[in-house]
Amino acid sequence: MKLIQVADSVYQLRGGSNVGLIVQDGRAVLVDSGLDRDTARKIVRAVEGLNVRLVGVVITHAHADHFGGAATVRARTGAPVYAPALEAAVIANPLLEPLYLFSGAAPPAELRHKFTLAEACPVDGVLGIGDQVLGGVPAKILPAYGHAPGQVMVAGEGVCFVADAVFAPDVLHKHGIPFYVDIDQTAATLAALPSLDGHYAAFVPGHGPAVPAIGPWAAENAARLAAIRAAVAAALAEADDLGCIVQLTAARMGLQISSPAIYWLTQTTVLACLSALQAAGAANVAILDNRLTWKPVVGS
Ligand SMILES: [Zn+2]
Repeated sequence: MKLIQVADSVYQLRGGSNVGLIVQDGRAVLVDSGLDRDTARKIVRAVEGLNVRLVGVVITHAHADHFGGAATVRARTGAPVYAPALEAAVIANPLLEPLYLFSGAAPPAELRHKFTLAEACPVDGVLGIGDQVLGGVPAKILPAYGHAPGQVMVAGEGVCFVADAVFAPDVLHKHGIPFYVDIDQTAATLAALPSLDGHYAAFVPGHGPAVPAIGPWAAENAARLAAIRAAVAAALAEADDLGCIVQLTAARMGLQISSPAIYWLTQTTVLACLSALQAAGAANVAILDNRLTWKPVVGS
């Protein structure tokens, strides 16, 4: 991981998943904790190198690549771990992640690797939205629901850590169909992001480099989200079965699904589109001869 100074007292540890450090008066709050123990050890070394005391760890959302290192960081530094309520439940019980990806059934081996099943970490405090003081360090917690149900962004010392509220253009391109659990909430989060421009000197995403303005990325992500939703709506006109709808949506988005794990992640986004379409009165679900069928609502 590479330590990058983003502002006077804010750092980004750049890795597969980014980690942030907000420093004030020799104390530091960590934003996310990387994938695993190996990453956690690098984080602890970086904190020691800066000669600061870790007084809190904020987890933006409970995806394994963002909290897998938390237990090790907590054990090595004694810093308390904070997370939004719903995300905290998963951080403390990581089996919930592969479990929800597999409809609540015992997850298969493909969902039990470290990218979807992280090490458990006790959560010491539940984070609310708004201005907080964590171990003496002020931080502002902003809602960023949609990619994960309770995801938050963390701002301090002039920098906003936006987690996976937006994806950098190359990450967006790589994923094709990013992971979303709620399409309408994601759209609302993306619509609100440009209003943050001008209030912060830099924005640090969960993956990728820091940028001085988030509006352009938010617009690109919103366009992709709308395209995915439209692709699911178009698939509904051709197929009524979830498997076929996933296949048609992937084809329309130019995505080649490379593994069962990616398939289940993609399927979640397609399901999120289906429930959003249903909520908008554009789709119906019914049982037909023991088959679950999705239908477009004519005239919607
Ligand atoms: Zn994520």
